[in-house]
Amino acid sequence: PGALNIAPSDAIILFDGTNFSKWKSTVQNQPIKWTLNSDKSMTVKPGSGGIESIDEHGSIQLHLEWKTPTSIKSKGQGRGNSGIFFQRRFEVQILDSYENRTYSNGQAGSIYKQHIPLVNATLPPGKWQTYDIIFIEPQYNELGDEIKAGSFTVFHNGILIQNNVEILGTTEYIGPPKTKMTDFPKKALKIQDHGNLVSYRNIWFRKL
Ligand code: MG
Repeated sequence: PGALNIAPSDAIILFDGTNFSKWKSTVQNQPIKWTLNSDKSMTVKPGSGGIESIDEHGSIQLHLEWKTPTSIKSKGQGRGNSGIFFQRRFEVQILDSYENRTYSNGQAGSIYKQHIPLVNATLPPGKWQTYDIIFIEPQYNELGDEIKAGSFTVFHNGILIQNNVEILGTTEYIGPPKTKMTDFPKKALKIQDHGNLVSYRNIWFRKL
């Protein structure tokens, strides 16, 4: 085991604050423009696009830490919005949900538009927060049709907020989830640029 802020020995480190070597921009042929900070964190560069892991992933336990900006701009979905997309298509929402009302299945810790978190465990803006997420990937047949749904279990700041919920398909803003694998062949871990200065640090996972 590790300790607070230290990954366990079998973890694969995706981000330790020193560089973006495990990542690339979601915009083709563009370098990552996000900011590397002196406190071993990184911050979204609004408008530059998301970032995604170079390697793809299957079922994993993921740890990450995130922080929303202290300067409050906008409200609802416009306030401290980002998100972590497993296999590039299933979003666990990141949002400044501290005294910030929005649709319940779009708040922090929601499986976006699919599952409302059991409680709102969000800390105030400017505080580092943790997600510990168990992602079990969906199973597909050779035609790319889903034969077994995936699932999420999510701890937010150590509190269980998603208890083995079924992934219904892609987490769409509008419209039903899509379940066909062939529409989404890439399995990278993606972090969203939603136009807000959300910061991240200490990202690691363990293969399951
Ligand atoms: Mg989002």
